[in-house]
Amino acid sequence: MSQDTVSLDLGEDYPELRDSIRRICARYPLDYWAKLEETSGYPSEFVAELTEGGFLAALVPEEYGGAGLPLRAAAVILEEINANGCQASPAHAQMYIMGTLLRHGTEEQKQKYLPEIAAGTLRLQAFGVTEPTTGSDTTQLKTRAVRDGDHYVIDGQKVFTSRALYSDLMLLLARTTPLDQVAKKTDGISVFLIDLREARGNGIDIRPIRALMNHNTTEVFIENLRVPASALVGQEGKGFRYILDGMNAERILVASECVGDGRYMVKRAVEYAGERVVFGRPIGANQGVQFPIARAHVELEAADLMARKAAALFDGGRPCGAEANMAKHLAAEATWQAADTALQTFGGFGYASEYGIERKWRECRIYQTAPISTNLVLAYVGQHVLGLPRSY
Ligand SMILES: Cc1cc2nc3c(=O)[nH]c(=O)nc-3n(C[C@H](O)[C@H](O)[C@H](O)COP(=O)(O)OP(=O)(O)OC[C@H]3O[C@@H](n4cnc5c(N)ncnc54)[C@H](O)[C@@H]3O)c2cc1C
Repeated sequence: MSQDTVSLDLGEDYPELRDSIRRICARYPLDYWAKLEETSGYPSEFVAELTEGGFLAALVPEEYGGAGLPLRAAAVILEEINANGCQASPAHAQMYIMGTLLRHGTEEQKQKYLPEIAAGTLRLQAFGVTEPTTGSDTTQLKTRAVRDGDHYVIDGQKVFTSRALYSDLMLLLARTTPLDQVAKKTDGISVFLIDLREARGNGIDIRPIRALMNHNTTEVFIENLRVPASALVGQEGKGFRYILDGMNAERILVASECVGDGRYMVKRAVEYAGERVVFGRPIGANQGVQFPIARAHVELEAADLMARKAAALFDGGRPCGAEANMAKHLAAEATWQAADTALQTFGGFGYASEYGIERKWRECRIYQTAPISTNLVLAYVGQHVLGLPRSY
């Protein structure tokens, strides 16, 4: 293979994985998800099944009890969950943030946590980056960790920390050196692995945020939280780089989640457009109904190709920042188009909760905002791919 060649599987890759996920998803129909929404509940049974099947340990190396699969396999798992009408977000964070622990954690941390994560007895599902006053401008974050002997004392606040109430561990980003004492604003930020089982009620208070979709997102208040110095991941002050390292993987996984959601919406729209008879013929016989569905399918296929390319580059150890960001962008747009088209195709019934369309429509909107908003992805492409001046 030449330097410029990566292998790209254009068919239904990882068919056994897909089959297994489909079988699990079949046990969690629309009303399961609808009932959870009523109570803002967490799909514990669903996540437990995925965990028991080893799917959430896809990226954990075999030596620590995981499956040691490439990123593309993890992307396929998340895509397939969404493509079958279920929700990958309650379980995706473990995959998003695994790289930080794998690449930068000490051997002791890996030995301590990875086998239990792989076995499903420990959940690493929370990632505390966003703060209420600083938002996308991560280097300005206000959460502060101060070394005190063999401990750190942490104070601050996070917002939209999803699943914190359903996770045993949280990866937390905090400033360890004040902004005015660092050469570069990206320096002096550190990553900590917080054991929430010990921290809740002892320096951490977690409060749920009711949101547009059931995402189990929360506010995390941190006051005088003492954590052992061993909670630091990698070197002090290098945390921002560690998070950046993981962003390509995250973008690729998100893109595949989008593709899955979008495909679900197209499938539902096609079925409904074929069945629903108005003016004496299926509504799908009208170009005004059919073409938006066809367009959504075309756009999803293009997004899928870019996501596969990005994953192939990533798994081949090649630079993939451009492709990962473009895949995330294309997929987020295509998914939203697919969702809106499905809602329109269903007419008034799209609004009726029992059809599950309005719920997925809301879920398909998130990718424009989280884990990174559309503008920030375009800013990356403008600056790093096209060489335009930095816009933020
Ligand atoms: C349901 C949900 C779950 C989430 N889960 C998590 C989580 O688990 N962990 C976590 O850390 N965070 C999480 N987030 C937070 C999410 O990552 C942020 O909301 C997102 O990154 C945007 O930050 P912000 O909300 O502060 O928006 P802001 O940074 O305030 O931006 C607001 C708007 O302005 C735009 N904007 C800002 N600056 C510029 C600029 N210079 N140029 C162009 N446009 C700009 C943005 O694109 C955005 O549209 C979640 C959010 C939601 C809604």
